[in-house]
Amino acid sequence: MTASRWNALTRFRSQRHAASQRLSTHGQMIKASLVVNRRRCGKPGCRCAEGQLHESLAFTYKRDGKSVLVHIPQHLEAEARQAQHDYRKLKTLVEELSAINIKLLKHKAQRSKSRQR
Ligand SMILES: [Zn+2]
Repeated sequence: MTASRWNALTRFRSQRHAASQRLSTHGQMIKASLVVNRRRCGKPGCRCAEGQLHESLAFTYKRDGKSVLVHIPQHLEAEARQAQHDYRKLKTLVEELSAINIKLLKHKAQRSKSRQR
């Protein structure tokens, strides 16, 4: 194997190692969409009667093809948003890791081809 190809292999492996390490830091992730619910509580004289509706956050996600709604209490909003953010990061990382692994596979395939010659 030439030095440059050996370097490429080492580089891909260290990239894969780094990406794998980062994967493990997103275990709190949640795959869901945030929705804001606005409603009137019905109490007379409440601000919502004047059009200032009460807002609450919820997650929606699919389970067995059905939409599920999970209410997010205000004190958990930051945590919920972080979890959603982590999911997006994780998705990007998975794409990145897959691309690295494809490079590695190609590299190994080329190596075995040149050995047969
Ligand atoms: Zn109200």
